[in-house]
Amino acid sequence: MNPTQNLTHSGTVYLVGSGPGERDLLTLRAARLIGEADAIVYDHLVADGVLDLARPGAEKIYVGKERSNHTVPQGELNLLLVRLAGEGKNVVRLKGGDPFIFGRGGEEIETLFEFGVPFEVVPGVTAAAGCAAYAGIPLTHRDHAQTVAFATGHLKDGTVNLDWPALARPNQTVVFYMGIGGIGEICRQMIAHGLPGNYPAAVVQHGTTARQRVLTSDLAGLPGAVSAAGIASPALIIVGTVIELQKKLSWFGRLGTR
Ligand code: SAH
Repeated sequence: MNPTQNLTHSGTVYLVGSGPGERDLLTLRAARLIGEADAIVYDHLVADGVLDLARPGAEKIYVGKERSNHTVPQGELNLLLVRLAGEGKNVVRLKGGDPFIFGRGGEEIETLFEFGVPFEVVPGVTAAAGCAAYAGIPLTHRDHAQTVAFATGHLKDGTVNLDWPALARPNQTVVFYMGIGGIGEICRQMIAHGLPGNYPAAVVQHGTTARQRVLTSDLAGLPGAVSAAGIASPALIIVGTVIELQKKLSWFGRLGTR
């Protein structure tokens, strides 16, 4: 297969965000495209029940993608999408959250572009928005945070290569994706760059789902609290004084949901 092959009968690839975990948070557009697809290529963060929307006979291809355990290497996956579209199929590439936020969606459609495969991108509710809403932690608030930053906490060689002085600032909320493995280092760096040890910090695991767990603490105490509670991925770390509002504003599980 090469970029010059004739793809005049190519199907379209829809890069679709499936939201943070609760099926109801799927967009109407995502639900429609899933229902119409000939093939669905999905990974492990796709919400339970979303694949039930596929039509009978649709091909469902699991491509994994857990940290350090990529079931299908990224290069092969990009070419799989090209091949399926080349067979004339309409393909939904389904990803957790939003495809353009720590989802490598950009890399996948760059390959489609090179091969001349038509594509569209469908945004989804990213984990930060979903978890914050369901945990009762507003990401911005006039009294607390005028800025919100999304950062990756994924460790490379045991260190997180981030702009710590920019992240460790008051009046902003920082959300770390993929940060549980590096939580000790993340909290240590936030303190080393100027935030006090008692600065509010929280973790939300399995946000928006029936399994959601919210742990609030501070930068000094969060790593110990997370390991004591046995919290593992998928989870987000949130740092900011907006977390103080959580006691009043948490609603999920309290009022019952429909
Ligand atoms: N594209 C996705 C993010 C993929 S990176 C999005 O926009 O949400 C994967 C990371 O997202 C996980 O390691 C975790 O930090 C976070 N994540 C995804 N779903 C989550 C959930 N339901 N609860 C908590 N964190 C979640």
